[in-house]
Amino acid sequence: MNKRIIDSFGRQHTYLRISLTDRCNLRCFYCMPENGVELIEKPNIMTMDEIVAISKTFAELGVDTIRLTGGEPLIRKDFEELVRELARLGINLKLTTNGILLDRFFDLFREVGLNKVNISLDSLDKAKSLFINKRDYYDRIMTNIQKATDLNLNVKLNIVLIKGVNDSEIPDFIELTKSKNITVKFIEFMPFKGNHWDWSKGVSRDTIIRTVESHFGTIIPLPNPKHSTSLNYKVYGHAGSFGIISTITHPFCSECNRIRLTADGKMKYCLFANAETDLLTPFRKGRPIDEIIREAI
Ligand code: SAM
Ligand code: SF4
Repeated sequence: MNKRIIDSFGRQHTYLRISLTDRCNLRCFYCMPENGVELIEKPNIMTMDEIVAISKTFAELGVDTIRLTGGEPLIRKDFEELVRELARLGINLKLTTNGILLDRFFDLFREVGLNKVNISLDSLDKAKSLFINKRDYYDRIMTNIQKATDLNLNVKLNIVLIKGVNDSEIPDFIELTKSKNITVKFIEFMPFKGNHWDWSKGVSRDTIIRTVESHFGTIIPLPNPKHSTSLNYKVYGHAGSFGIISTITHPFCSECNRIRLTADGKMKYCLFANAETDLLTPFRKGRPIDEIIREAI
């Protein structure tokens, strides 16, 4: 039996994003309402053993990369043990975090070889960060970003651009790539439940490119890795690079091979899909989930 997961468009699915929790220590206005969100009840959140076992099944089906995300993945009490267990699966582990607790785990990352970390940083200005994130952790985040780059972790900064809020900082972010081999990734503002999305607040890929060119001159397109969700560029002469995730103006659906697993064990094939397949319930009932995964995809 062919054990890989291949969808009806012939795409092999090798990349899984797991939300370790729906809880977060920030309240970025584009992501979560400030006064609380409807949270998944604790007993319905996957335990460490469940995450490891479900990940193992995905690995057996050809998934070779797992990105840990959330909510904020680092607030899970068992994060360290969980990462150690996942590392034993022999898959490529990556992390997306807001960076607040990052310094607690540098030793762990070195030990298990996790060296690709995406850190959300929507502004280089403290007051503006507070306005966007609604919590005052700016200094801590900046210190941890500095430590991460000093330790030679492969750091990408994720920036959700909102018109009139942080779009004026595009050149400042690009400036960071001048002497440091760092990547900044601009993300188009996406609609999620309750985030008052309105594209008039969005900043398009074309606008970002025009802004960078008008400040820095020639930009060089970089080769995009297969199934990359961003278009990647570099300013001529800069050490680092920048990418744009243009989900709204230039969707990359035909190239996407990402599967998502929510903190309560539901598999989703698309950020915007309502359809999901519950893996946790059958798993808890002792049913094999590999066929459920393959059929759903
Ligand atoms: N808490 C971690 C963090 O912020 O990096 C991981 C989870 S967060 C949901 C993952 C990524 O989604 C972050 O880079 C965040 O900026 C991005 N994101 C959240 N809401 C978004 C939105 N409405 N539009 C575009 N990107 C968004
Ligand atoms: Fe939390 Fe990340 Fe959402 Fe910000 S983007 S509220 S840090 S989950």
